[in-house]
Amino acid sequence: MSNEQDDRSSNLEQQAIAETPLQDKRATASALPNITVAEGRTHLNLSPDAEVIIDSLGRVVLVNEQAATLFGYGPHELNGQPLEVLLPERFHTVHVAHRRTYVTTPLRRPMGVGFDLVGRRKDGSEFSVDISLRPIVLDRTLHVIGAIRDVTAQRLLERERVRLAERLVLQSTLINLAHDAILVRDPISRVLSWNRGAEALYGWTEKEALGRVSHMLLKTHFPVRRAALNALLESEGHWEGELLHTQRDGSVVTVESRQVLIRDERGAATAILEINRDITQRRKVEQAQTAVHIETLAQRTFLQQLLDALPSSIYVVHGRDARLVLANHAAASTWGAEWSPGHPMRGFLEEHHIRIVDAQERSIPPEAWATMRALLDGETVLQHQEIIRQPSGTSLPILVNAVPLTSLYWQSLGVPDEPGEGHPPRNGEPLALVIHQDVRLLKEAEYSKDEFISIAAHELRQPLAVLKAALGTLVLQTARGHGPKLAEWQHEMLQDLEQATDRLSTLTEDLLDVSRLQAGQLVLQRASTNLVSLVQRLVERFQKTTTRHQFAFQPEHPILEATIDLQRMEQVLSNLLTNAIKYSPQSGSIVVTVGKDDADHAVEIRVQDAGIGIPRHQQARIFGRFMRADNAQAAGISGTGLGLYLCRALVEQHAGRLWFESTEGAGSTFFLRLPLSYTPPLPERRDENNL
Ligand code: ADP
Repeated sequence: MSNEQDDRSSNLEQQAIAETPLQDKRATASALPNITVAEGRTHLNLSPDAEVIIDSLGRVVLVNEQAATLFGYGPHELNGQPLEVLLPERFHTVHVAHRRTYVTTPLRRPMGVGFDLVGRRKDGSEFSVDISLRPIVLDRTLHVIGAIRDVTAQRLLERERVRLAERLVLQSTLINLAHDAILVRDPISRVLSWNRGAEALYGWTEKEALGRVSHMLLKTHFPVRRAALNALLESEGHWEGELLHTQRDGSVVTVESRQVLIRDERGAATAILEINRDITQRRKVEQAQTAVHIETLAQRTFLQQLLDALPSSIYVVHGRDARLVLANHAAASTWGAEWSPGHPMRGFLEEHHIRIVDAQERSIPPEAWATMRALLDGETVLQHQEIIRQPSGTSLPILVNAVPLTSLYWQSLGVPDEPGEGHPPRNGEPLALVIHQDVRLLKEAEYSKDEFISIAAHELRQPLAVLKAALGTLVLQTARGHGPKLAEWQHEMLQDLEQATDRLSTLTEDLLDVSRLQAGQLVLQRASTNLVSLVQRLVERFQKTTTRHQFAFQPEHPILEATIDLQRMEQVLSNLLTNAIKYSPQSGSIVVTVGKDDADHAVEIRVQDAGIGIPRHQQARIFGRFMRADNAQAAGISGTGLGLYLCRALVEQHAGRLWFESTEGAGSTFFLRLPLSYTPPLPERRDENNL
């Protein structure tokens, strides 16, 4: 048995002793009337309660039927037994002491007020009892009569009541902890309960709010008529919605309100429970967000209108696979198909059988598309020539400008991330703006110009050849003494004439090359060649043409083979070396290197001068036809602007690349990169071919 219960019993005993004033102890026994045992039995039999009479030693003297039955004994079984048989064993010791004390101070009183008394049946089972004791004088001896009641059901109810009370305390603490305003009002809206949340939200204390009509106190602004809301509450039993309430200081708050109607057993409304959550701040934020959203949409619409009004195709792509973000109307006509936002460029082109080709109708690989170069390499690609082969088969020559953008640009575009817009760009993803310029008309004009150039070059070729031959004969025959001897000035004139015809024939050849290129008739005769020896030979040759320039040749390897058209590559390199000399009019050193890029399996030739350089604003167009930089012309250096154009076309035909870095006034470096031969030919053949 638990110590707790033992303690309880000893408490009970102490309490019983303390309850009895000393004065009463003496008075009680003499004041009691004496009855016989027979009278006692009659009294017990007449009593509706279970009763038992014990003597001063605690033995059962008389017991009625109710008591015997209550404890599971036969009618006479308890007679003479100590009273302790009716108690669980754990109470025996304390009970004996208690009983003895009681006998010395016999007073009518309940036993163990405030404690759970427990009885024990014959079969050992226990049950809650309530015992009230009363002294009685039986045959002139003090006895005690105990009335016993089974209070099991009552105790259970009491415990339940205590539990409920505890729960209510918890609930009300909880309600007061809530930030929400929780109130209870009666059917005519008088406040019955008002938690701390309500006090904090509205500013009225519970005391001030109790009994007030809530909608008058809070100047409630209903979304529908109050009567309609009440009708709904009545029919549905609950209501949810937004209300406007006025706080004590006059400011208005928006609350999200939930209300439930409580009914009694007969269905009559007894109260309304109401929970109001302050959503003023949330509403303000939402309103601000909506305003921003509307503003953004308006900006976007405006931006789209602007873009659509432009005649050139414009689009923005993001990610390494160039997914479309937005495009204007003209873009659809340029592609000849509609490109939907979110779709990758490559997939779109393949799906619609669109090709991007160069002037020779060769497919440009995706990584070389201006769009991809801007996205993948972050390169600003200007005036890149591409031809779009539309689904219909029409070829559209375009100039592409592709500019990488930062996500900051993206935000300033005001394009919201919307579902259904594909995959919106994420931070850190590359973004590029691409503009296509339809150059069909320009191309047509260019075509006519090419036609003219071609005809003119062909027509010039014949008389030039005659002129050159005649000059040659004149010089040769005069030198042999045929005809009159020429004066010095006549010799000089002949030399000038020879130089001029040379220049003219070079120009004519260049012009013819241009037309061949345009017509796709420039065919390469390729063979594996040691580029190191080729460059060396050319450097030596060019060094002989100048005393004011110093060439430095730095090969990193003795042999670097590439499969090239020797004559054409000589033309390219000669052009680069000529330019290095020509555009370093103040003399200077020219450094030529030939190196290898193992990763790329390529050979890279560099020609570096310290000349006039190329102005930054003209660098993007310097490979164009007839393109000459302003500073070259201002310095009075003659040229046609055809050389670099031809060089790049020739290098690209070799599957190579030609580019430069230049600073005006400081010099230029031209880079030529060609793929290395995969199967180097035998050394003997190399020598034979190259030198
Ligand atoms: P050309 O030299 O006949 O004018 P190119 O096509 O070879 O034609 O060169 C085009 C233009 O590029 C030149 O007119 C000049 O303005 C510029 N250029 C080429 N090479 C150099 C260089 N090494 N230094 C400075 N400018 C150069």
